[in-house]
Amino acid sequence: MHALVLEKAAQLCLRDIDIPEPMGTRDVRIGICTVGVCGSDVHYYQHGRIGPFVVKAPMVLGHEASGVIIEVGSGVTHLKVGDRVCMEPGIPDPNHRATKLGMYNLDPSVRFWATPPVHGVLRPTVVHPADFTFRLPDNVSFAEGAIVEPLAVGMHAANKAQVKPGDIAVVIGAGPIGMVTTLAALAAGCSRIIVSDVQPPKLAKVATLGPVTVVNAAEQDLSAVVEEVTEGWGADIVFEASGNSKAGLEVFQLVCPGGRVVFIGMPGEPLPYDVVGAQVKEARVEHVFRYAHVYPRALALMGSGKINVKPLITDTFPFADSLQAFDFATKMPPSSVKVQIELT
Ligand code: ZN
Repeated sequence: MHALVLEKAAQLCLRDIDIPEPMGTRDVRIGICTVGVCGSDVHYYQHGRIGPFVVKAPMVLGHEASGVIIEVGSGVTHLKVGDRVCMEPGIPDPNHRATKLGMYNLDPSVRFWATPPVHGVLRPTVVHPADFTFRLPDNVSFAEGAIVEPLAVGMHAANKAQVKPGDIAVVIGAGPIGMVTTLAALAAGCSRIIVSDVQPPKLAKVATLGPVTVVNAAEQDLSAVVEEVTEGWGADIVFEASGNSKAGLEVFQLVCPGGRVVFIGMPGEPLPYDVVGAQVKEARVEHVFRYAHVYPRALALMGSGKINVKPLITDTFPFADSLQAFDFATKMPPSSVKVQIELT
């Protein structure tokens, strides 16, 4: 099949590739419609690796996908041919201890699209377990369906924070993950989100998503703004979505006594961490790795209009222009959030 293949670092090719995919009884075959370009796809393109995951053989990129069911296995009852769907890109081992405990995102043997050696989905069709395939509400487009994957990270972070109605949260970093975390935290019940970043176009975009106070960290003092908005109490929740190396010091200045801190961003190396700052507030600290059990809730919120991801879809390319899409994504202007590729 014709696919976007990463041959090795910095070498992408739109070419035919043979991917044998037998159908199991609990599988569906999906015709791919839209695929989002993720930071990880761009990283593999530029460097050929992310940490321990190294591209050693040609690999199809892409893991944020939506499509239409074109074939169903004999044991599949909840999906039928023609259904519009999006897919969770990670397939865990059902017998792994973490999976059995419900933490299937932490199964180290998970097979995750476009993580070597597993092919991604920038290709016409894929076979996938029906259990990890979710029907889109009628009012959710394929482009929106392809954003459920990054949105799931924000949903998981909001779950970990145990958002209460009326909470005031800080989101550090207004990249795609900071944006989806803002959407998820607002839908979960936050009354206001204070978002900091250093790029004005990103702040202008995130300000349109709801009751959001933006802070340009290059010019303003975030802790002073938090103090003002919360009348000196501090934020109920701090979501760290920048991966900045100073985050482990800053977050505890921002959170209120008894508040929650969720680390989402992935710093490039171990960072300093203010233990006493966390202790004197008895801060509860959480971490997220991808997500689990959130796709149905994300889709329900999108279907009901509580979450609108349309402002995040900024740049769309046809499949034939996939190389241009990736080159655009490597030098993305700060006004862009999500690049998507349309296959049909
Ligand atoms: Zn992604």
